Amino acid sequence: MKVGRLAGTGQLAVDDLPAPHAGPGEIVVTLAACGVCGTDLEKLRGRYQTAGKIGHEPVGRVTEVGEGVAKFALGDRVFVHHHVPCYACEVCARGDTTFCAEYARTNIEPGGFSEQFRVPKENVERGAVLVLDDGVDWDRGSLFEPAGCAVTALRRVGLAPGDRVFLTGLGPVGVLYGRVARAMGASWVGGAEISAARRERAARRGFDLVVDPADGPKALEAIRSATGGKLVDFGVAATGASAAIQLAYRATRRGGTLNLFGLPEPYGRLDVDLQQLYLGGVRVVPTYATTEEDVATVQRLALSGKLDLADVVTHRRPVADLRAAFDLARDAESSLKVVVTGPAYAG
Ligand SMILES: [Zn+2]
Ligand SMILES: [Zn+2]
Repeated sequence: MKVGRLAGTGQLAVDDLPAPHAGPGEIVVTLAACGVCGTDLEKLRGRYQTAGKIGHEPVGRVTEVGEGVAKFALGDRVFVHHHVPCYACEVCARGDTTFCAEYARTNIEPGGFSEQFRVPKENVERGAVLVLDDGVDWDRGSLFEPAGCAVTALRRVGLAPGDRVFLTGLGPVGVLYGRVARAMGASWVGGAEISAARRERAARRGFDLVVDPADGPKALEAIRSATGGKLVDFGVAATGASAAIQLAYRATRRGGTLNLFGLPEPYGRLDVDLQQLYLGGVRVVPTYATTEEDVATVQRLALSGKLDLADVVTHRRPVADLRAAFDLARDAESSLKVVVTGPAYAG
């Protein structure tokens, strides 16, 4: 089988390796599709301070079931979450499961850009494998993880029906966040994006206002006037650039919430006047990754018709062309979401 992996900063490799087998309690999944995430691009650039495994949004078909696994059968179409929390520590007990110290310890092997991968026992047992409904195709299923991150974020910040949301960064995850916010009841969703092609795409796909952050004070003025001077309840930084985080902060009303959602630049700093932050009462809430329940919510919202997952995946490349997939994903002018496909995609 072909396995795509990181081979050092700026280096990708596709190896031929023997297919994995399922040990007791494990399953093996044959890849249909796995999205290239912004964090994968940052790992390739050597700018993400975590383990260097790439590919964490996979969907595929169960092709081997280990001893003692009763919940899944051969041929099941599944989404697999790469991390699971322990559900036993104090952090988990408080509901902050994605910040559990154990959360990032488990992972699929060898990764999501592999034609087949093994799912560890902990993931199988703790609900990380979700059976896809027949109404969810591979492209939509491959968006469950990033859309789940938006559900987790909006749940943590406490979005209520009628709230206004403004996002900076309208790449695939920003677009998904906007749609999830809409599905969860937001009454107004605006965004800022530096790529002209992505601005145009977002404007055509349901955003109430799309601004160019390069317009400086004019961008903020546009948000002010579109919201009747009220600004937004939730400013969301869906990209890591410090300037984008600043704009999301400035777009947030007094007493509102700034959600740090996209991976911030390494050693990035938020330059705010602390007295203004204090007097304005803006909460700063970082949210990271997603949970099994929130991914299940994505499937429910998608099946109910509230969450539109169409037209997000724009390009597909097989595992053997991993480099081309990454190059396309980095090219904001031509792509939105790029997925890497495996042998199960056709079936
Ligand atoms: Zn991701
Ligand atoms: Zn825990």
